[in-house]
Amino acid sequence: MYIHRSIVHYQADLKAGVVTCTGVLDHYLTEIERTSRLNAFIEVYQEETRSQALVIDEKIRSGLPLGRLFGVIIGIKDVICYQGHAVTAGSSILSGFTSLYSATAVERLLAEDAIIIGRLNCDEFGMGSSNEHSAYGKVLNPRDESRVPGGSSGGSAAAVAAGLCMVSLGSDTGGSVRQPADFCGVIGLKPGYGRISRHGLIAYASSFDQIGILGTSVEDLALCLEIMAGADGKDATASAAPVPVYSEAIKEQQTFRIAYSNEALDHPSVDPEIAHGIRQFMDQLSREGHKLEPVSLDFLDHIVPTYYVLTTAEASSNLSRYDGIRYGHRTSAKASRLEDIYERSRSEGFGKEVKRRIMLGTFVLSTGYFDAYFTKAQQARRRILNQTRQIFKEHDILLLPTSPFTAFHFGAKSEDAISMFLADIFTVYANLAGIPGISFPIGKHSNGMPFGVQGMSDRHGETALLQLFQRTSV
Ligand code: GLN
Repeated sequence: MYIHRSIVHYQADLKAGVVTCTGVLDHYLTEIERTSRLNAFIEVYQEETRSQALVIDEKIRSGLPLGRLFGVIIGIKDVICYQGHAVTAGSSILSGFTSLYSATAVERLLAEDAIIIGRLNCDEFGMGSSNEHSAYGKVLNPRDESRVPGGSSGGSAAAVAAGLCMVSLGSDTGGSVRQPADFCGVIGLKPGYGRISRHGLIAYASSFDQIGILGTSVEDLALCLEIMAGADGKDATASAAPVPVYSEAIKEQQTFRIAYSNEALDHPSVDPEIAHGIRQFMDQLSREGHKLEPVSLDFLDHIVPTYYVLTTAEASSNLSRYDGIRYGHRTSAKASRLEDIYERSRSEGFGKEVKRRIMLGTFVLSTGYFDAYFTKAQQARRRILNQTRQIFKEHDILLLPTSPFTAFHFGAKSEDAISMFLADIFTVYANLAGIPGISFPIGKHSNGMPFGVQGMSDRHGETALLQLFQRTSV
């Protein structure tokens, strides 16, 4: 039996011989097997990780130099490439596809002696908020198996919450790291746009996508971020801003100017128990010496439509590469025209939600509608960005709910796409503005489910978020 407290504790135990890497890995492999009904993992790299763990133990025994993540057991969402391993974005269209190279994030983890234990289930191409849209079936929420784990990184959140890996990687285009973290009671960090290279991350909406980290301690997230962040010659949008030593910075206690929004907390969609929990948390922050001030977010009701117009437009373009010729699934039906191959392969390979988004995106980009939808949404994005800049001129952090409600039951929203979309109200904002966001668990609802609060900061303000939430582990 191994209980993960933090990477630092674990590595100290490894060095002191209290545990071995092979022993701890075995614990995780057994747990994954025992909880396989959760369906968090699509694939587990048993043999390979066993040999990697042996190498780590040997390095420790013989005093060889060790990377900063030696022995750390990490799961990765099925949208992140790992050379020589299958990757499918939770979609049948990529069945049988093997990564030709590793994502920069994965390369950087491996270079520090981390162990990638397996590939985690998710909504197809990251499109969804409940993990009900995966070609591999739904993931169960380990806190209550009749409920969704959130999405799209549902497998990543469920795996951490159930103790099936120490940290996991997800991707966040509109909340897919933070919302499942909230639903499963773990911490989820989406860094600012470009903080972690997107090279090797399967694209959903390229101007929104960002790799994020899920875990049970801020300390672990800080260390992993420090290792993965930074400029990358393979992604021109990766930020060249210097990477702070987050793992050291979190040791400093700071007081912050914190903004909150009454429009958000009193929003009709927000469960009153969650709003109350957040207000109590804010009182606690005031007592700790932080300065809390209300700000106006009058654009709140425009962010979901803006997000869905822009992301579906980008998705319709990004996903046009899956044509049955270049990768993945090709129809077995005889076709006399090239267009038939495209049409049948795509009809067979993509799921319902992805088709909906491709059609919506194609529509908003079509002649005659382009200006009314796409251009308008770009203008709205710019206004939101400008107002965000104003907020962060006077504040270090903005607090919002992560989700209006706790994890819901399977099927509760799957027939109603609009209500599922609207629930993304508080998370898509950070992706529209390109700023970092973190979800941190702060309470338990009377329905037994966890809920969190979300902190956002200005671009490159991850340090402030990590410092504010550097509290006891969850
Ligand atoms: N729920 C949002 C969507 O479906 C967010 C997804 C994501 O962040 N990948 O688009």
